[in-house]
Amino acid sequence: MLVGMTLLEHSWPDRLRAAGLRVTPRRVAVLETLDAHPHSSADELHTRAEARLDHLTRQAVYISLADFVGHGLVRKIEPPGSPARYETRTADNHHHLVCEQCGAIADVDCAVGAAPCLTPDDDAGFFVHTADVTYFGLCPQCRDAG
Ligand SMILES: [Zn+2]
Ligand SMILES: [Zn+2]
Ligand SMILES: [Zn+2]
Repeated sequence: MLVGMTLLEHSWPDRLRAAGLRVTPRRVAVLETLDAHPHSSADELHTRAEARLDHLTRQAVYISLADFVGHGLVRKIEPPGSPARYETRTADNHHHLVCEQCGAIADVDCAVGAAPCLTPDDDAGFFVHTADVTYFGLCPQCRDAG
């Protein structure tokens, strides 16, 4: 049972169909590449996916990513001062550690688990559904170098 669920989780054609998106070699290649390289920018993904799929334009990668984000297959993160990054880990409310020196990004589990994990003192009447938590600092490599 567990094995079956794990396989299903990683079958991109199935997940595309479940999301109502047509299965194309381009979409599968972009998703598989992103799965192998979490927190990639669109340009990084394009460079990597291009190696396995001829005639893949940057524009096509941007369009695919926008489709995936819109259908919940991909999460977009936007660290200040750097291009948007993407990841396939969408099922949880995890946060990110961002290195201020080299831009490295690492996942960190949410201590609470469910969004929003931070509640404002005064919500000003808003219905709050998420809190965008990012931790900034120095990654181990940059700490060693310093
Ligand atoms: Zn660093
Ligand atoms: Zn992440
Ligand atoms: Zn949290």
